[in-house]
Amino acid sequence: MNAPQPRPAPATRAIPTPTPPPPHPRRRQRPPLLPARHLAPRPPRPRGPPHPRGTLDPTAVHHALTDLAGQPVLVAATAGTTDAGLVDPLPGIADRCAAHTTPTGPVDFHVDAAYAGPLLFSATHRGLLAGLDRARTVTLDLHKLGWQPAAAGLLAVRDLADLAVLGHTADYLNADDDTDAGLPDLLGRSLRTTRRPDVLKTAVTLRALGRTGLGALVDTCMTLAQDLADLVEKSPHLELHARPTLTTVLFRPYDADAPTVAAIRRTLLTEGRAVLGRATADGRLWLKATLLNPHTTLDDLIQLITLVEGSTPR
Ligand SMILES: *Cc1c(COP(=O)(O)O)cnc(C)c1O
Repeated sequence: MNAPQPRPAPATRAIPTPTPPPPHPRRRQRPPLLPARHLAPRPPRPRGPPHPRGTLDPTAVHHALTDLAGQPVLVAATAGTTDAGLVDPLPGIADRCAAHTTPTGPVDFHVDAAYAGPLLFSATHRGLLAGLDRARTVTLDLHKLGWQPAAAGLLAVRDLADLAVLGHTADYLNADDDTDAGLPDLLGRSLRTTRRPDVLKTAVTLRALGRTGLGALVDTCMTLAQDLADLVEKSPHLELHARPTLTTVLFRPYDADAPTVAAIRRTLLTEGRAVLGRATADGRLWLKATLLNPHTTLDDLIQLITLVEGSTPR
């Protein structure tokens, strides 16, 4: 191999400052194209009932629904919060939704199961998702506990009629007589028309690993999170936020202030040693390890603990 040649210094060249566009000529205020009553109403402001323990409290949901009586409402619960991996009490929230009505029927119940949804594959852990079956719609992100490259988001609906809003006819795409003649019409399946076959990889994974195979990967990651929590608890220098519900573990060095925690994370990252996340919980900053690689070994976890202990100034 040739010895690398020193790179010639780049020629310095002044980058021309782009000329700002001329100010927009002041237009006369045009009347709206449609009478105001046809304009889409502003979506209501989302309400987040207080959640001091990190999960949605069914009683707080009940109070919010009482306040909003008579209005169309969608309650969105989370199965697997991004930071602490907590699961909202789905059966209790489903009960409260069922007990209230809107002008169009019972309150709609949606579950964001982006993170925890694939626990359904695990015979051991699917109980954590009790109540998910009562949701009208569920979202799942198979690029987390599903091991897919992005994009792998799914919206599951109980009733296909809920997808009717996606239905659309364009003569050049799905002329009625073609659809009647049995040609596939994908226009009602996605917001997009031209798109990659994103679902192919998911279909291949499901065929190759099956429910049991995916469940085994979920179980391995769930066990790894408990193992990491054990190691944190055993370390005299580290504090565990809580026993993990899913596969995220929040921990921090004892007595470290927030800037120190943030600096440890950045040092490990920039030195190429470990990629940890960060999360604020109970008003304090924590390091966040999200266990999603089933090939992780106990030794990897021990090394991670050693790295964090070693980067903690004392
Ligand atoms: C990851 C996640 C999402 C969606 O994130 P994307 O990476 O944009 O797909 C939504 N909700 C929760 C709770 C998540 O953890």
